[in-house]
Amino acid sequence: MQSNLAIAQAAMPGSKIWAVIKADAYGHGLENGLHGFALADGLSLIEFDRAVKLRELGWTKPIMMMQGMFESVDLDVISQYRLQPVVHNHEQLEMLSKARLDAPLHVHLKINSGMNRLGFLPEQTHDAYSRLTAMPAVGAISLITHFANADSRDVSPDVATQVATFKKHTADIQAEISLSNSPAILMHPEVRGDWIRPGVMLYGGSPSSGDAASFGLKAAMTLSSRVIAVQSIRAGDSVGYGSLFRAERDMRIGIVACGYADGYPRHATTGAPVLVDGVRTRLLGRVSMDMLNVDLSPVPQAHVGSDVTLWGDNLPIDEVAAAAGTIGYELMCAITPRVQRKVRS
Ligand SMILES: *Cc1c(COP(=O)(O)O)cnc(C)c1O
Repeated sequence: MQSNLAIAQAAMPGSKIWAVIKADAYGHGLENGLHGFALADGLSLIEFDRAVKLRELGWTKPIMMMQGMFESVDLDVISQYRLQPVVHNHEQLEMLSKARLDAPLHVHLKINSGMNRLGFLPEQTHDAYSRLTAMPAVGAISLITHFANADSRDVSPDVATQVATFKKHTADIQAEISLSNSPAILMHPEVRGDWIRPGVMLYGGSPSSGDAASFGLKAAMTLSSRVIAVQSIRAGDSVGYGSLFRAERDMRIGIVACGYADGYPRHATTGAPVLVDGVRTRLLGRVSMDMLNVDLSPVPQAHVGSDVTLWGDNLPIDEVAAAAGTIGYELMCAITPRVQRKVRS
C-alpha cells in the first residue's frame, strides 16, 4: 500500500493525496489503510462511524466525507471530529445554513461536470459558492468533481470535456480543487489538481482494462486457502451443483475451502484462473457457498493441504474479476467477515 501510494505521488508530483479508504479500505481493513497510507495528506471515505474510528486511532490530518451529511445530526459528528464534508445538493446547503457550530467547517463543494451522480449543476456553482461563503458554519471551501470515463478514451463525456466544463464555471473562484481518481491519475497526467483521490490503485487493482503491474502497482491483498479434498474422477463424471463441469478424460480435481460466502464470486465459471502450489490452473464448475473445485492436471503433486491462491500475489485480481464478469474493485470489497485476515510484515 505504501509503494502504491508512492506511485500515485510520482504520477502527480506536487498534488496532495486524499487516500480513498471507503468500504473499509476497499475490503483491506480500515486500520491497514490507516497504516499503509500514513504518508497521505488526507483520508477520504463515506462512513461516519469509520471516520470517528480513524480519529480514535490517532489520525490527525484531514478526513473528507465524500457524500457529506445525510441528515443534520451528522453535523454534530462532523464538527466534533473535524471532518470535512462534501456538499453536493441543496438539502445539504439548508442543513449547513441552519447549523450553529463551535468552529467553521472546511467543506468541499461538488460540481456535477457530466457524471450526473452527485453535485450541483455547473451553472449553479456560483450561487452555491456564494451561499456557502455567507454561512457562519462554513470556513474554507474547496471544489471537487468526479470523472465518468477516465478509464476510456472514446466514451462521452470524456475527461477533457468534464475538465473544460468544470474550469469554465470555477475559473474566477479561488479555491483548491480535487479532480482525479485512479484512472485519471494513471491515464490523464495532463489533468492537474491541488489534490488527487486515488482509490483502487492504492490497493494494487487496475483502474482500467490494462494490467495493474504495467503501472508498477502491487497487490495489497492475497486471498488464499488450501485444498481440503482430492477426487479422482472418470471421463463423463461431473463436479458439484448443477454438474456444470463434466470431465472429458480421467482427471484429479481439488476441492478448495473458499466459496461465495467468503466473497469469491459465484459468477466465475470454468476456466477462471487459480494457483495451486504456485502453479496456474483453472476453476471447474459452479462455485458453492464454502467450496470451489479446481483442475489438478497441471499440478500432479498437489494434495490435501496444498496452498491455493485465489487472487493476489502472482495472480492479478483483475484477471479473476474478468472471468467472473466484474471488476477487481468489487471482489476486494466483497471479502466477508469470516475470512481470517493476516497482515503481512
Ligand atoms: C471511490 C471514489 C474515488 C476513488 O476511485 P478509484 O477509481 O478507486 O480511484 C475517488 N473519488 C470519489 C468521489 C469516489 O467516490
